[in-house]
Amino acid sequence: MSIKVAKFGGTSLASAGQFRKVQEIISADKGRRYIINSAPGKRHPDDQKITDLLYLCHDRVRQGRPFDDIFTLIANRYLEITRELGLSLELRDRLVEIKTKIAAGATADYAASRGEFLGGLILAELLGYDFVDPAEIIFFNANGTYDPGRTGKAVAARLAQHPRAVIPGFYGTLPDGGIKTFPRGGSDITGAIIARWVQAEVYENWTDVPGFLMADPRIVKNPKPIEKITYRELRELAYMGAGVLHDEAIFPVRETGIPVWIRNTNDPDAAGTLIVSDDEPLTQPGTITGIAGRKDFTVIALEKALIHSELGFARRLLSILEEHEISFEHMPSGIDTISVMIADSQLDGKLEPVLEAIREQFNPDSLEVFPNMAVIATVGRGMAYTPGIAARLFTALANAGINVRMIDQGSSEINIIVGVATEDFEESIRAIYQAFVE
Ligand code: ASP
Repeated sequence: MSIKVAKFGGTSLASAGQFRKVQEIISADKGRRYIINSAPGKRHPDDQKITDLLYLCHDRVRQGRPFDDIFTLIANRYLEITRELGLSLELRDRLVEIKTKIAAGATADYAASRGEFLGGLILAELLGYDFVDPAEIIFFNANGTYDPGRTGKAVAARLAQHPRAVIPGFYGTLPDGGIKTFPRGGSDITGAIIARWVQAEVYENWTDVPGFLMADPRIVKNPKPIEKITYRELRELAYMGAGVLHDEAIFPVRETGIPVWIRNTNDPDAAGTLIVSDDEPLTQPGTITGIAGRKDFTVIALEKALIHSELGFARRLLSILEEHEISFEHMPSGIDTISVMIADSQLDGKLEPVLEAIREQFNPDSLEVFPNMAVIATVGRGMAYTPGIAARLFTALANAGINVRMIDQGSSEINIIVGVATEDFEESIRAIYQAFVE
């Protein structure tokens, strides 16, 4: 029988009503055999996420302050969901045990992981599925990185004994037996890992949005949804900040070409976004898939006659960044110039020492700093090998009166990145969208 892995996010499981919707979705397709859950999220904008409350409990203990008030909120939330669903599941002993461990100084990862653990127990009971604790099948190395070798074997062996199971997202186990979580939003990663090791036909990721949109709806009015996107295109867009799915969730499924389908729990009949293999045949040449961007960059521009004939100059420049633990985004260069574009968060407090080191190392003819830059990536496989795409993009920006400060095209030709002043950021995105989509 085909296997579908379905992951449900925090808002999809925020209340008993949402649990019911999830139950309906799962029972509509017998292929949905492995279910990954997030901890209950917000029921309304002013609500609190269970995960945040659990971290807060841990913080209070660290500060030597009582945390009963917060823990009561957490406990009540689960008890209310269980009661409203009419389940006979008894959670009180579990809650006491968790509270005792947090009070005794359990790690932040342990505390946070209990959000998914408790939610998973409820969902398994509601569905009549087995409960499989990811602490027993998802493993990390001692340095905190994910261990695919050990995990792969454990997932395959264990789930072979459970034709249908709920597996809480977000955490696994370190070699010393301690609980370790993925980064925030990491239940997406758990789902991808399970899909990978059970060789799922599809990894469904159920959220509270219609899928990916072609541009940020806060900038472009009613942007079109993206119905299909390749893993690589998504990487280009995700890296620029279009976060519906956790960045790292792509890698496990991409390895074996398992499609990821982003769907909306509150509108299960909608098309959503299907993320497919990079080899999928292209149907619409000349089109773009999406536009994403990010603000808050600084460019350091260095000019020196004949710099390109100096052996190893780029390496020396990058070594300066490395010594200051700074990663860079782009490095365009000209015949006597080279610049590096760096996110402000990377540069925090380090600009002066970096400039000083560059002056010392290169004795440049000029060294300029351009703050308040933004980058915009226009992405789409349909752009590759298609003449006229760049002309369209730059004409649109020129017509909008925008000065392009930097241009970079990825080697795969599926993206064109432009650097503009922060104040031109929104207008640039709108101009590009209009040129290609409207
Ligand atoms: N509950 C965790 C978080 O809030 C993980 C997740 O929801 O994916 O980050």
